[in-house]
Amino acid sequence: MHEIICSLSEGAFLLDLGSGSGSFDRALTPAAVIRVDVEESAAAGETFVRADAAALPFRGGFFDALILNHSLEHFAGLDGVLHELGRVVKSRGALYVAIPDANSLCDRLYRWLGRGGGHVNRFTDPRALERRIERATGLRHVATRVLLTSFTFLNRRSMMRRPPRRLALAGGGSESVLVLASGLLRLADRVLRSRLSVYGWAMYFGEIPHPVEADAWANVCVRCGAGHPSGNLDRRGLFYLCPRCGARNIFTPDSAYRRLTWRRPAPQPEPCKEKR
Ligand SMILES: [Zn+2]
Repeated sequence: MHEIICSLSEGAFLLDLGSGSGSFDRALTPAAVIRVDVEESAAAGETFVRADAAALPFRGGFFDALILNHSLEHFAGLDGVLHELGRVVKSRGALYVAIPDANSLCDRLYRWLGRGGGHVNRFTDPRALERRIERATGLRHVATRVLLTSFTFLNRRSMMRRPPRRLALAGGGSESVLVLASGLLRLADRVLRSRLSVYGWAMYFGEIPHPVEADAWANVCVRCGAGHPSGNLDRRGLFYLCPRCGARNIFTPDSAYRRLTWRRPAPQPEPCKEKR
């Protein structure tokens, strides 16, 4: 999402919808950040509005950019929410949506662990969702990246609440077990060309001045969930230390997932029309 939030200028308004405690560091953008969630959870000093995503208390065309980071899957009344996104964003604005692939191992595990996990929308077809968002918001689809996971939600160290009992069946939430499991899944993906480490997709719409990252980043931290391009990491043998939180993770080159690099789909030929 940095392609959007870093391109905004002072005086711009940026909506973090379904923000939880915040989808990104406010210091990354000079724009005015407004966090919105149905549960009051923003940090002190943040501008927070408690609201339903299907009934946003803002005038039309107020925001220069919208960020929905792992939140759209939680919103009931999806058509109403998409309509609201199109209403509050400027016609030359930008939109970022990150969602899980409901068919992925990660999302199945998350829903099993959290007895549904609040995922009321289960997305399996990124092309269909891109078209649906384009129609509802009027913003042009720009790109869709594949996102990978290291199952951060299973890490006891990252949990805000008491761990669910079922966690005992998924390695007990031990960080070292997660590091090893993530490393093995990435190895399986390389050898078998499987998608075991896939989380879902990041979709970009609208006017985005910075080039959008197309590669899937293989290195996602087991503790903080931050992804980093492999070329930027300080590798130490099999491992790297997360630049954000310092956790030790197994290193995987991004080239292992080059086959998932986003490429614009070829235009479909018009169906033949009978000549009169
Ligand atoms: Zn980290």
